[in-house]
Amino acid sequence: MRPENVEIKERWKEFYRRYCKNEISKIAQNEKTSLVVNFGEVEKYDPDLADDLVLHPDGIRRAAEDALADFDIAAETSLEHARVRFSNIYPSTKIYELSSDDVNKMVSIEGIVRKSSDAEPKVLEAAFECQRCGNLTNVEQTGKEFTEPHQCRGCERQGPFRLLEDQSDFVDAQKLRVQDISSTEAIDVNIEGDITGSFVPGDRVNVTGVLRAVPDDGKTTFRVFLEGNNVERLGEEDETPPTEFDPEDIEEFVDDAISTVAHLESRNIQHQKELVTRENLVTPFLKALGWNVTNEDVIVEYNGDTDGYVDYQLMCDGTPFVCVEAKSLGTTIADDSNFDTSYDPNAAKQLRRYMRTTGSEYGVLTNGKKYVIYEDVSDDRPEEEILLSVTLGDLAQYTDRLARITPVESS
Ligand SMILES: [Zn+2]
Repeated sequence: MRPENVEIKERWKEFYRRYCKNEISKIAQNEKTSLVVNFGEVEKYDPDLADDLVLHPDGIRRAAEDALADFDIAAETSLEHARVRFSNIYPSTKIYELSSDDVNKMVSIEGIVRKSSDAEPKVLEAAFECQRCGNLTNVEQTGKEFTEPHQCRGCERQGPFRLLEDQSDFVDAQKLRVQDISSTEAIDVNIEGDITGSFVPGDRVNVTGVLRAVPDDGKTTFRVFLEGNNVERLGEEDETPPTEFDPEDIEEFVDDAISTVAHLESRNIQHQKELVTRENLVTPFLKALGWNVTNEDVIVEYNGDTDGYVDYQLMCDGTPFVCVEAKSLGTTIADDSNFDTSYDPNAAKQLRRYMRTTGSEYGVLTNGKKYVIYEDVSDDRPEEEILLSVTLGDLAQYTDRLARITPVESS
């Protein structure tokens, strides 16, 4: 193993110690056979490792599985065959947007299962018995064709060999055809192991996998498919009602968020992406306001207008109520009244445009450290005024104004 791979393996072990102990103990107790790793947590832990996983998934995932195989657990069970599956790779790509640039990279798509083949055993490692001397030779089956031993491990002759099924390693394999939600584009997804057999046509799914391109037999064109790493059913709508706004939740959020910001800033700030800010600061802020981020009142990536998507569209009785535009922690944001040239005036303009096109009464612009809230103050023509412009540390002093963008106020 090359030195950099040893280092990557150590990075994964440290990640498991910090984030995955409980999940790993479930595998050790035979409750599960694969470890699902939240990609957002990998980004928080080590943005470079997260980037590498997307760009060089084969080596990085193998290092993650090697690290899991030697993870110290107080149990007899071996983690050697446990798979590592990744979830929440963001942003997901539309199937029709997948291009040759994505080949051999890790991507995530959302779609509807149109067809699912039967799950069938696929041999991973075949055990062959030599008919001349009776020795066993194992051959790892990596390619498309079934491979016999080059020569017998015992007598070094070319067989003949007999396959010993009960001593070979098999895995369940299945093919899903997944269609884009908003177009007719579709792609085949090959999956293996414990996730096979659990999806049927009609399921809405999120698929993480590596895009592969193989030559079409006898043609110059390539056939693309996804080597599925993880498939998750997109949840049924969560009917849990939002909770009532409690100003103390904001105080608690501020305390937590201050230490989160310090933690994220102690890492390389240039690498702090919008996703990290969203997962670690903006989503918790919305929860503190009482929004249930998994129900239909909170729509992520809402179609704002022809130019873009609202990061979070908060709804009131099915109607747009608050647009939330998140920027990465490293972005300086300010309201329009700030003429400091370091700020991003486009973010505020974009948000105000979303408010108009969606008909939202309020807009929130935040990078996790600064919170600017706009209110539509005019009846006949759109006109936005700043309701609040405050830094994280002072947020808890304005719970009266924050109460206006909570779900309880909206009903
Ligand atoms: Zn032999």
